Amino acid sequence: VPALRIQQLRKTYGNQVEALKGVSLDVAEGDFFALLGPNGAGKSTLIGIVSSLVNLSAGSVEIFGTDLRQQRDAAMRMIGLVPQEINFNLFEKPLDILVNYAGFYGVPRKVALERAEVELRRAHLWGKAQMTSRTLSGGMKRRLMIARAMMTRPRLLILDEPTAGVDIEIRRGMWDTLREINDAGTTIILTTHYLEEAEHLCRNLAIIDHGSIIAQGPMRTLLSRL
Ligand code: ADP
Ligand code: ADP
Repeated sequence: VPALRIQQLRKTYGNQVEALKGVSLDVAEGDFFALLGPNGAGKSTLIGIVSSLVNLSAGSVEIFGTDLRQQRDAAMRMIGLVPQEINFNLFEKPLDILVNYAGFYGVPRKVALERAEVELRRAHLWGKAQMTSRTLSGGMKRRLMIARAMMTRPRLLILDEPTAGVDIEIRRGMWDTLREINDAGTTIILTTHYLEEAEHLCRNLAIIDHGSIIAQGPMRTLLSRL
């Protein structure tokens, strides 16, 4: 089964704005998938629906074969979400942020501590585990959010414009961490309006514009057509 299957997805905000006009797409397990499109294309709406933050108007969403509306909790347990805005407590230490987050989702403390070390190392933050998060650089804070999302061992990691508004050095650090996570087997979907980002990271992509998918396929095939 695909990691994500979206069929004929529609979203109308307040009976007027048609943000998604019948979007269908499949993301295979293990893929690193980009949803590329300009501002207002419908990317955040699509990600919002998949992560259960936005209600869909019509169509269906399945996460590893589990219908999002029929089995919301089971579907959500397979998803890790990296928010765009830094939303952890800046006075907590990275290690505590990760362990407390895992605890909230029912991960036993001993397991959480082991996972936290794995994730902090992967995000190149192990050396900062006991510092106040406030003192981390912008790039470190963003990698900490990726590490945190991995604490529940999601099969599908979702990021909405993870690098919007950050400089190239910070973006590269995030790209490295995401690549390692994908190499270890987690399916990743991200939205972006940077073609360069999709090109560097992703195997497959869909291009969305005005609420419709206008192209979809392997990165190489699509790039040769742009
Ligand atoms: P993107 O993430 O690609 O920039 P969005 O999904 O945010 O696109 O927006 C798609 C369309 O839906 C835009 O026309 C936007 O103005 C509209 N939209 C997004 N969120 C809302 C909302 N909460 N209420 C009304 N319209 C919205
Ligand atoms: P900033 O956020 O200020 O750009 P970073 O936290 O990204 O700083 O980088 C701090 C140091 O860690 C730099 O020397 C950088 O090269 C290194 N670094 C950052 N990310 C990675 C990574 N994914 N792999 C290896 N080294 C990294």
